[in-house]
Amino acid sequence: EIQVISPKQHPIRLRHISEAALKVLHGLHQAGYQAYLVGGAVRDPLLDQQPKDFDVATDATPEQIKQVFRHARLIGRRFRIVHVRFGRETIEVTTFRGAPEADTHPHHQQLANGLLLRDNVYGCIQEDALRRDFTVNALYYNLADACIYDYAQGLQDIKARQLRMIGDPEQRYREDPVRMLRAVRFAAKLDFTLEAQTQAPISALAPLLLQVSPARMFDEVLKLFLSGYALLCLRLLREYGLFKMLFPATEQAFQHIPHTLALVEAALHNTDQRLAENKPVTPAFLYAALIWPALLHLLSKRRLSLATMKMETFHEAAQISLQAQAQHTLIPRRFSTPLQEIWTFQLRLPQRHGKRAWRLIEHPRFRAAYDFVLLREQAGEDLQGLGAWWTQFQQAPAETQVAMVKALG
Ligand code: ATP
Ligand code: MG
Repeated sequence: EIQVISPKQHPIRLRHISEAALKVLHGLHQAGYQAYLVGGAVRDPLLDQQPKDFDVATDATPEQIKQVFRHARLIGRRFRIVHVRFGRETIEVTTFRGAPEADTHPHHQQLANGLLLRDNVYGCIQEDALRRDFTVNALYYNLADACIYDYAQGLQDIKARQLRMIGDPEQRYREDPVRMLRAVRFAAKLDFTLEAQTQAPISALAPLLLQVSPARMFDEVLKLFLSGYALLCLRLLREYGLFKMLFPATEQAFQHIPHTLALVEAALHNTDQRLAENKPVTPAFLYAALIWPALLHLLSKRRLSLATMKMETFHEAAQISLQAQAQHTLIPRRFSTPLQEIWTFQLRLPQRHGKRAWRLIEHPRFRAAYDFVLLREQAGEDLQGLGAWWTQFQQAPAETQVAMVKALG
């Protein structure tokens, strides 16, 4: 039973919609198609939040969408999505998806365990609504009449501030285990509770995440930890037994080396703060912190100490830790290279004799590596004043710097 909410009864206005999204909606309407805003673009303004991006759902097929817009690109993922670009903005346009008719339909592939490989059957708006994950993500805004169309009682859940999975939660998590991560991310970001039946199966189904490709997992992990609510996400992920599916060696390290949890929590807290202040954050730094506990645990098992070990041995251990993590979340080279530099600098920054200090400070990775030292100290590691030394060295006049290096003895 569909509910139609007239503009008098909801707060969404044209100013809530980006220029590019308006162009896409107008363009599709003029070509004779239906087109609705959906997802965060409708949900977030209802909660007085700024949408992160604008998603459009339409009855036009991807080919038809391409005929309407010059800057349209087909994206070959699980669902066929078309990216329509206007200037810097990209709008995700998806064709209404149909109800799954498992087994029988040739375009609809499902493994015996319920995992959906492709989900490309087209349908009508009502079917599309029921293929979405949470009720609050299945609200459609129609520019033509300014009404919100609610096919899954999403508005009710917006008011109750809860996340409710559409359909049978266990089946929906089996179809796509990433929905468990999305549940955590939205709960944290929207400050919603998970409705009881939506929450219930998660802990038991958490191991299904091991089936998700490392590439998709990397994207999802970044979304979690760059959401602005990373610390809360970590706590929820651990509560539901999801974190150990994403970072198993890190979770193990938390159990054995007490300060490592404090380090990751401090890193995520800093990330949240930087995002709140509109400062840039780098995934390399985030990943350096998330995997550092695993590396420390490996070193402790081998009775190696950071203070005394050889660089070569350190590199080897770093490689092992990174490769083990890459089985779960792929780490693209553009992030793994700076990540390893941040780590390597943890051995180099204590070596300040001769001209080394001046050389280190010139290195493009110095700033991140120095921040990492501060993070380790913030988490309770005793580095014998290393952070404070570098803080002072950076600010000191040349003659003081010389004296500081001499004083190292
Ligand atoms: P945000 O953009 O703030 O992360 P969103 O709700 O817009 O939140 P998107 O990832 O942009 O999320 O996806 C847009 C919409 O597509 C969602 O609101 C949901 O309706 C649907 N969707 C996305 N991923 C899935 C999924 N794994 N299973 C079912 N539906 C999904
Ligand atoms: Mg979105």
